[in-house]
Amino acid sequence: MKKCPYCFEEVREPVAKCPHCAQFVIDDFIESDYRSIDKKRCIFCGKNILAEAKVCKHCRKWINTVDDAIKDME
Ligand SMILES: [Zn+2]
Ligand SMILES: [Zn+2]
Repeated sequence: MKKCPYCFEEVREPVAKCPHCAQFVIDDFIESDYRSIDKKRCIFCGKNILAEAKVCKHCRKWINTVDDAIKDME
C-alpha cells in the first residue's frame, strides 16, 4: 500500500492531492505493507491522528515536532 507522506493515511492510487489531509503531494508516497496503528493527539484540534503524521488530517495544520504532540496512551 501507499501512504501519504504528510498524514500517513493510506491512499489507493498516486494522487496529486491527498484525500485525507488535502495536501498537494510533491514528495514520494511512502511504500508500506502495514497500516499504522500508533496514534497521537493533534496539538491544534486534539483529535487522534497517526503517530508518524506531519499534517493533521482533521484541521490540516502542520505538526512540526513530535515532541509537541501529546501521546495518546489510551
Ligand atoms: Zn495526507
Ligand atoms: Zn488537528
